[in-house]
Amino acid sequence: MYLASQAGQGIAPAAGSMPASVLDSLYSQIAIIDRSGQIHYVNQAWRDFGHHGLPPQHPWIGSNYLDLCHVYAGHSQHPSGQVLAQIHAVLDGHGEAFDWEYPCHSAQEKRWFMLRISVLRGHPGHFVVSHQNTTRRKQQLLAGQQALQATAQHSQAILDNMVDGVITIDARGQMESFNKAASAIFGYAPDEVLGRNVAMLMPGPHRQHHDSYLQHFQRTGEARVIGLPREVEGQRKSGQVFPMSLSVSQVDRAGEPTFIGIVRDITQRHQRDEEIRRLAFYDPLTGLPNRRLLMDRLKQAMASTVRNRQHGAVMFLDLDHFKQLNDTLGHDVGDLLLQQVAARLHACMREVDCVARLGGDEFVVLLEALSQQAHEAATQAEAIANKILYALGQPYTLRGQAHDSTPSIGIVVFAQDHASLDELLKKADVAMYQAKSAGRNTACFFDPAMQAAVLAHAELEKDLRHGLEQHEFELHYQVQMDGQGAAVGAEALVRWHSPQRGQVSPAQFIPLAEESGMILPLGQWVLETACAQLQAWAGRSATAGWTMAVNVSASQFAQADFVANVAAALQHTGADPHLLKLELTESMLVNDVEDVILKMNQLKAQGVCFSLDDFGTGYSSLSHLKRLPLDQLKIDQSFVRDILTDPSDAVIARTIVALGHSLGLAVIAEGVETADQRDFLAGLGCDAFQGYHFGRPAPAAALQAFM
Ligand code: C2E
Ligand code: MG
Ligand code: MG
Repeated sequence: MYLASQAGQGIAPAAGSMPASVLDSLYSQIAIIDRSGQIHYVNQAWRDFGHHGLPPQHPWIGSNYLDLCHVYAGHSQHPSGQVLAQIHAVLDGHGEAFDWEYPCHSAQEKRWFMLRISVLRGHPGHFVVSHQNTTRRKQQLLAGQQALQATAQHSQAILDNMVDGVITIDARGQMESFNKAASAIFGYAPDEVLGRNVAMLMPGPHRQHHDSYLQHFQRTGEARVIGLPREVEGQRKSGQVFPMSLSVSQVDRAGEPTFIGIVRDITQRHQRDEEIRRLAFYDPLTGLPNRRLLMDRLKQAMASTVRNRQHGAVMFLDLDHFKQLNDTLGHDVGDLLLQQVAARLHACMREVDCVARLGGDEFVVLLEALSQQAHEAATQAEAIANKILYALGQPYTLRGQAHDSTPSIGIVVFAQDHASLDELLKKADVAMYQAKSAGRNTACFFDPAMQAAVLAHAELEKDLRHGLEQHEFELHYQVQMDGQGAAVGAEALVRWHSPQRGQVSPAQFIPLAEESGMILPLGQWVLETACAQLQAWAGRSATAGWTMAVNVSASQFAQADFVANVAAALQHTGADPHLLKLELTESMLVNDVEDVILKMNQLKAQGVCFSLDDFGTGYSSLSHLKRLPLDQLKIDQSFVRDILTDPSDAVIARTIVALGHSLGLAVIAEGVETADQRDFLAGLGCDAFQGYHFGRPAPAAALQAFM
């Protein structure tokens, strides 16, 4: 089909033959070149077009196409160096074809052409060059693109003018779009976030949550957040966390889900709500809760006293001679005093308590979570009232002038039996007037019996302090036996011989000593005395290996210097730490378990042993128990008392023995009063025993019988 070219060399379609006329009929300009770029054939369209700025009559055949390209290489409408390199690549046999669309605008019109260089099949070393006018297609394409761009710009304009932040993410959580409002809300420019995980816009805990949420979505296809707006927290670029409303919807694009999040910063709304709440529930002058909030808190407090079987207290408080101050120095000064009183009252309170201002110089203090025992609750309330009397009794400075003020306080202790709030407040009010008539600057209870109990309590505390100074205390020792019936040690139990009161039971004065802080000197005295006795026993062969159990109060143990105090007692007396056994109670584990463990380990390192007293009556968590370096559990006497008659006590005792043994601890039973109880407990596997059956607590000299 191909003959010698028109110039007699190379390859070209036969002139006048079918193929040549076909090629001459095409609009595309077609040439055949060889590897060196030499032109062997051009069709009619090529000649007519006057290629590369050359006239139609140019002697095309034999001239070099590449040279023509080179001439124009610098020209914007013609092949650049890079394009030439690609043309050469095809000519050198790297690749079948090369396409390049280029603009070729004339003065009259804009035109585009597609250059294609491809291998001429069946003729190695020869290539077809075609230049085809693609202006039409290109114009359509450009028009389409412009329309698309206009639509996109329109959508973006809508997005950018929305007050809400709009963020789209893909199924992996990567952000795909981020509008202007989102930038304003979060403080990030779009290019800082696009392609990154949306979790970066959430504060800490939500962040991880979001990842697992998306993972859940990927696994199951279930999306739980789609739908109504929710209030969540966002985090700005500055790190600030703020409340936002978020609604998420899902659209699918090419089968892939896209989530659209609409975000609104609701900080201001929250602030407004907060302000409304503040105005509704707080006193503007002092910032304290007002009557309405107090009533609410009181209602809750009464419900919780019922639930917890605890007591609460309401104190009515009024400033003595406030009216006089107001009348003489003016309301402004009166207001200053009220503000300072409010601040001092607030400082006297525990976290759970509430101080409110009813109006004028009337304040109400609500105390919650007081003791389950009425008289103890009264004592607690009284202690706080005293604290308030002291704090409010300190001089004030009002406009540079010193001023004295005192309050009168009425107290009502309440428990589940109190029916109405109003009744409660009325009683507190009555008690407050009693305090006023009792000479002001004082606190009075509504209930005379309570008043008496508080007085008696104060009396006991005074005697206890006196007794400590006068050495009215003594230690008794109660022997502890092993399974073979041999005495192996004793527990030290403190006794108070009061000249006024006679023998006072530790059950009575230990709680008071704890409350008043006197347990600290008393406890240290017990420790020193017991260690001295332990050292005395160590010196005699019959008692050389005896241990000494010493009870330790929670408040004593909580002291920062407790470990040092024990070490000091051991050092003063020379007692062997390995024979000292401190009895702790479960109540110590309620608060700072880590501190307890730390101290126990420090003492343990010195050789000191530990027993957990009254076990079974508290709320030990088993996971805590496991972490304590204990040596022994002590079954509380309340389980021992009826162990032979009450099957549930027997079950509890058996369980404690099994638990102790499984934790590698020895188990001792206290309150063993009969041989049958001992035998029964021994049958359960109990290792040691203590109780009246073996001996009552008695002075050291009385323990001779066991030596
Ligand atoms: P606890 O440590 O559980 O002591 C056991 C109590 O049971 C002692 O009462 C003891 O006399 C009594 N008891 C012993 N055997 C029997 C028995 O067979 N039957 C009956 N019914 N009771 C028996 P006590 O001496 O009145 O001590 C009461 C609580 O006071 C002690 O309970 C302990 O919690 C506390 N206590 C005593 N001395 C001290 C002390 O020096 N420091 C501290 N912090 N607390 C102490
Ligand atoms: Mg004890
Ligand atoms: Mg006990």
